[in-house]
Amino acid sequence: MFLGHYGVALAFKRVEPKLSLGTLFLAVQLPDLLWGIFLLLGWEHARIVSGYTAITPLEFLNYPISHSLMGALIWSVVAAALYYSWPTRDTSRHWQAAAIVGLAAFSHYPLDVLVHIPDLPLTGNDSTKLGLGLWNDPAATLVAEALVFGAGLAFYMARGSNRHPVRRGRILTVLLLLIVTYLASVYGPLPPSMTAVAISDIVFILAMAALAGWADRRASSAELEARGLSHK
Ligand SMILES: [Zn+2]
Repeated sequence: MFLGHYGVALAFKRVEPKLSLGTLFLAVQLPDLLWGIFLLLGWEHARIVSGYTAITPLEFLNYPISHSLMGALIWSVVAAALYYSWPTRDTSRHWQAAAIVGLAAFSHYPLDVLVHIPDLPLTGNDSTKLGLGLWNDPAATLVAEALVFGAGLAFYMARGSNRHPVRRGRILTVLLLLIVTYLASVYGPLPPSMTAVAISDIVFILAMAALAGWADRRASSAELEARGLSHK
């Protein structure tokens, strides 16, 4: 899945407003970020096979560290612990926020199960593999992506506050980049190599997280005053 992961991040931002959308963008894509790194390290393997599924030409040969159920559980605990121990002055609702970061990271696996063909292991690469295979059906994939992404986006847009406003121009920039990149990955030419796939995967996830942090920046006291609002 691609857009759906970001839909989850948008929704969780409104569940816990103190979380930066940038942090949540990183959390929901943590398994894919690690996958790019592990591909480059040679710890996990995939190859490009034209027409392998209707949506993606990637055959995931083995990726139990980043994309097993056990991996998802471990990485979500790591993500929550990292958030919890990150130095900050704002420690209100801190463990709740950390739990949501962990949940966001965990959400990646079940959403991937929805679209992947059965290649997502429970534990090691020889364990049972899950995948409902929506990727064999382009229309069903696009509907599933649009539903999860659309629901998260609608929740995000509806729940802005003075302190955590919807910055329409900025968030639109982020959304357009996500949608254009997704459509290009589905309908564009085959990637030149797995190294190119891994590097673009890492760069894209980090860049989108940075952009999301910028798009979702909380309102400063000066900004609230300029708009005639209280600091609350
Ligand atoms: Zn994934």
